[in-house]
Amino acid sequence: MNNSTYQQLCHNLEALKLPQMQLHLSEVADFVSANSLSFSEGLLKLTNFEADYKAENAARSMVKAGAFPHHKELEDFDFSFQPGINRQEIFEYNTLRFLEENENLVFLGPSGVGKTHLATSIGITAAKKRISTYFIKCNDLLQQLKKAKSENRLNDRLKHFSKYRLLIIDELGYLPINKEDSNLFFQLIDMRYEKKSTILTTNINFSDWDSVFYDAVVANAILDRVLHHAHVITISGKSYRLKDHIQTEN
Ligand code: ADP
Ligand code: MG
Repeated sequence: MNNSTYQQLCHNLEALKLPQMQLHLSEVADFVSANSLSFSEGLLKLTNFEADYKAENAARSMVKAGAFPHHKELEDFDFSFQPGINRQEIFEYNTLRFLEENENLVFLGPSGVGKTHLATSIGITAAKKRISTYFIKCNDLLQQLKKAKSENRLNDRLKHFSKYRLLIIDELGYLPINKEDSNLFFQLIDMRYEKKSTILTTNINFSDWDSVFYDAVVANAILDRVLHHAHVITISGKSYRLKDHIQTEN
């Protein structure tokens, strides 16, 4: 490629906002002539640089928008520490087939067993595939809904949270939920029911949800909708947070 053609091509690629193609132009041109590739093969190679870069950027911004508490993935999870968890089952959820069926996942177990880690990992997988995903602590979610209600924009806020293809509500039950908040939570769960998937993490057995929500009626209405199409992953192992503090006995 002569210098003038190269300069004009660079100029065009810059004007068309294709910086990766501009960056790799001379390298691809050299590769094409060294390997006697066709024009279309060369063009494919060059456009792949731009397409890959844009896809990576889009995935990165989806992960950022997901507001995950940390960037932990399934590869970072030590399944041998928590033998009660079926590794294969978790990897199956990580294929995101449950999203196609609008199914929910519920991670149930005591503190420190990896509920948030696993929920986050699956959420990050979804975000990387550019599926709209959002992570929020239950208490923050309730605060936001309550504030929206007091400002007469509850419907907008409910709609906002019901749009996510995947919503991860973390730490349900760590704090008691009063009557008003229970109703707000019900409204959101009802809007998402059979339309979108939700991942919940909780330390409260379903039989005790009466005591988390204001009364048995609302608790049952929520449970019904959450569990109707749900996979429940019960984790009953040791806390990973305490693993270095627990000495092996005798
Ligand atoms: P939970 O939400 O059940 O209270 P977390 O998922 O927050 O627990 O786990 C507590 C901490 O321990 C996190 O930093 C998490 O990444 C880590 N952790 C928990 N279980 C494992 C595990 N099996 N392998 C690796 N890290 C783990
Ligand atoms: Mg947690």
